Amino acid sequence: MTVWQDDAARDLVLNAGERLALLVRGEGSYLWDADGRRHLDFLAGIAVTSLGHAHPAFVEAVSAQAATLAHVSNYFATPPQLALAARLKRLAGAGIDGRVFFSNSGAEANEAAFKLARLHGGVERPRILALENGFHGRTMGSLALTAKTSMRAPFEPMPGGVEHIPATIEALQAAMDDRVAAVIVEPIQGEAGVVELPEGYLAAARSLTLAHGALLIVDEIQTGAGRTGAWFGFSHEGITPDAITLAKGIGGGFPIGALVTYGSASALFTPGSHGSTFGGNPLATAVADAVLAEIESAGLVENAARRGAELREFLLGMDSPLVDGVRGRGLLIGVALSAPVAGAVVAAAQERGLIVNAANPETVRIAPALTIGDAELAEFRELFTAALADVQASLSGKVSA
Ligand SMILES: *Cc1c(COP(=O)(O)O)cnc(C)c1O
Repeated sequence: MTVWQDDAARDLVLNAGERLALLVRGEGSYLWDADGRRHLDFLAGIAVTSLGHAHPAFVEAVSAQAATLAHVSNYFATPPQLALAARLKRLAGAGIDGRVFFSNSGAEANEAAFKLARLHGGVERPRILALENGFHGRTMGSLALTAKTSMRAPFEPMPGGVEHIPATIEALQAAMDDRVAAVIVEPIQGEAGVVELPEGYLAAARSLTLAHGALLIVDEIQTGAGRTGAWFGFSHEGITPDAITLAKGIGGGFPIGALVTYGSASALFTPGSHGSTFGGNPLATAVADAVLAEIESAGLVENAARRGAELREFLLGMDSPLVDGVRGRGLLIGVALSAPVAGAVVAAAQERGLIVNAANPETVRIAPALTIGDAELAEFRELFTAALADVQASLSGKVSA
């Protein structure tokens, strides 16, 4: 083991397993490790670095705002905070009634959404419906919303009232009643392996929640900020939710999250009902506002749609028995494998200088920066083809060239 691996093994909390490399620098879709090796980054910090690494708009926003005003308490407003709130409301179609709460992470945005659901439901409506295979974060409230039993079990008891139902319209119909405070869903279940909701699900969820007086909360933490080729995952479906949660890609690498509320849900938080010391500080909001401004002005939502289609076409046309199908939308892609070898594919890719991720044993997740172009795609094609061939060769007992 090298020195950094010793340090990591000794000093870091044991939650993430062995680190894959010591990364020291990034530019665009490329990362360099401490040995000077270059990696093509098609994971983007798990759908976070929307503009790629060290984008001039990001660097300029961090530097300029750090030199101007980095933090004040939420007793005060700041221009970047107001600008970002207005931009998010506009992009999310939240209208004049919409409001924004800023957090520092996705889990915290979902904690705020959970509290919103409780404020709406009160004692009359204790039920909160979430989906099987859904992922909403690792803090206690967001963990309660998360489906995976193995993630929750060591931390029981959870905050109460959450039920996980199958992701079908029939299951939702059967579960809905007037004791449901909220339904929370991801438009595409990223952590579950980039699994889309069934056709028409969000529209059905919208009408069922309206009929029963429940909130519809859409977790856009992975799907938001242009990733799927629309500003938000729900934008494809033409519905208006009661709240969405955001994080990951909106900060482009700066930690920030947000809860955007619509219509009457915007009146639920009242003075004193929630808070966050760092949430919405001028540094974080200035950077996120600059990132979203760049996504808008550079047409990166359209680029995500176009490059996603190109990637999908390539993946579906691959002449590899390992590729079984392609899921997802825009630049959130799950490559379904015909065998549980996603870990081996990721390792083979890394060996060849390509970073992708195993969302589960059968799925390789691809989520590059929204800025990728022909050059990055060409290199991806070459490296991914080679990585799959490596795994195929080792599966069939041959020695890889
Ligand atoms: C990543 C993610 C979260 C949690 O966000 P953190 O910033 O890691 O707390 C919640 N929901 C979804 C859909 C996510 O992808």
